[in-house]
Amino acid sequence: MLDEEEVEKLRLAGRIASQVRRWAEGRVKPGKPLIELCEEVEGEIRRRGGEPAFPCNLDINEVGAHYTPPPGEGAVIPEGALVKVDIGVHVEGYIADTAVSVCLSSEYGLLKEAAEEALEAGIETMKAGVKVSEVGFAIQKTIERLGLKPIRNLTGHSIGRYLIHTGKHIPNVGSMNGLKVEPGELYALEPFVTLRDAAGEVVSGPCGNIYRVSKRKLPKNGEARRLMQEILDSFSTLPFTFRWLTPRGNPKVLSEAFNLLLKQRYISCYSMLIERTGKPVAQAEHTVLVLRDGVEVLTR
Ligand code: MN
Ligand code: MN
Repeated sequence: MLDEEEVEKLRLAGRIASQVRRWAEGRVKPGKPLIELCEEVEGEIRRRGGEPAFPCNLDINEVGAHYTPPPGEGAVIPEGALVKVDIGVHVEGYIADTAVSVCLSSEYGLLKEAAEEALEAGIETMKAGVKVSEVGFAIQKTIERLGLKPIRNLTGHSIGRYLIHTGKHIPNVGSMNGLKVEPGELYALEPFVTLRDAAGEVVSGPCGNIYRVSKRKLPKNGEARRLMQEILDSFSTLPFTFRWLTPRGNPKVLSEAFNLLLKQRYISCYSMLIERTGKPVAQAEHTVLVLRDGVEVLTR
């Protein structure tokens, strides 16, 4: 169990994540450059005393997860898009993870509503001793009642200190999984919703510019060694992106060192997760602390 001081850090991370999510929701407008919005979101997290626990994710339409813009990208939010803003905040490694969907056309409004309703239904079933499959079943039922489909291969997840995933999953569909929720655990619940005629599953796409350390070692010498040291010192077990790295002198040197680390597998890239039939996806997410009796939603 976390002690009171640790829970306070978690609560602060949750409060910041919630404030920044609300702030971001109002800034999703057609024509807005993705890179601008992401940098503003990350700036708001820091201004409020948190650190981003992962790069701001902006996933559009059929992209379910794991995209952040690279530096210098010119892409903007398209007209009529269904945009997911997924935000992670940590305070001394205590992480809150939250997301909201913004629907810029009336056509997909129901997807957003279904994701939010399913999230609430999932939270209502969360308590110590409940099977994760029961939470998944409540989420699935809510989505299907509205005539829509959950994404069955995206799940919520347990969270640890400086770790965004610690290996337990909260499914978005019912299953035979007998695994139970334990007191003291921290979970992100995140239903993903798509149209009824979609596949209801995501497949791996190209690199979405979000990276992780995969070899905790340093290359022999040069700028790659310096850069890997920076990555280990600054992010360690948390995801990061190229925009967060410090250039020294010629920017070309930095990207060459970065590419070397990728090629030699010191770091690896998360693939974007894309709905297999190209149908739009909505998401809602909160971080929930499981207490001995009941739960505390940290990102309301
Ligand atoms: Mn998230
Ligand atoms: Mn999450």
